[in-house]
Amino acid sequence: MKLENEDALDHLIICDQCRTLHEEIPIEDGTKACCIKCGNVLYRYDSRLTDHGLALSLTALIFFAVANFFPVVQIELLGNEQFITIPRTFLSLFENGFYFVGFMCAVVLFLFPLAIFALLVLLFLLLKLKKGEDLSRRLLVWLSYMKPWSMNDIFLISILVALVKLIGYAQIHMGIAFWALAMFVLLDIYMTKHIKLNEIWMLRKQIFAEKQ
Ligand SMILES: [Zn+2]
Repeated sequence: MKLENEDALDHLIICDQCRTLHEEIPIEDGTKACCIKCGNVLYRYDSRLTDHGLALSLTALIFFAVANFFPVVQIELLGNEQFITIPRTFLSLFENGFYFVGFMCAVVLFLFPLAIFALLVLLFLLLKLKKGEDLSRRLLVWLSYMKPWSMNDIFLISILVALVKLIGYAQIHMGIAFWALAMFVLLDIYMTKHIKLNEIWMLRKQIFAEKQ
């Protein structure tokens, strides 16, 4: 197949299972397009995705705010009480001279997750209002670069490992932020699995094609 220019690529889709190239065609709301060779789902069109995505990303943002404002764990050791919050973990790294590690933690535990969900809320709002054709395209490109850099799930697991090691030595109380962080991570995993960026990309195309 000979391509005239790069825009022609926008109308082609490759099956991620068997690598067969397909031409993309508009499909009805609530249906999906499958690969003719292996039957793998290539894309779907579900207009309710906008509402689901908006509700889920707003909820995740609220849990993220709670996870950052309140103590994750409270540790009691020899009469000393210590509250640990997410911002305090990377601030104490800075205070102890671990600038690079502190900076990386701040980026992957705070800045990227916050930016990703704020951009998702903005993106779904734009799609719901059927506005910002160019901006929504740019947001999707940014999101595809940023997604791999959100590491709250790894942080949650490392907290659990640290707590298991401390159990014999100190009294540990889980704070409200711990459960909020767990909910945030679960929502993040659910959204990564069920609302794929390429599906939002297709939805965006359908929404702005219908508008014209
Ligand atoms: Zn296939």
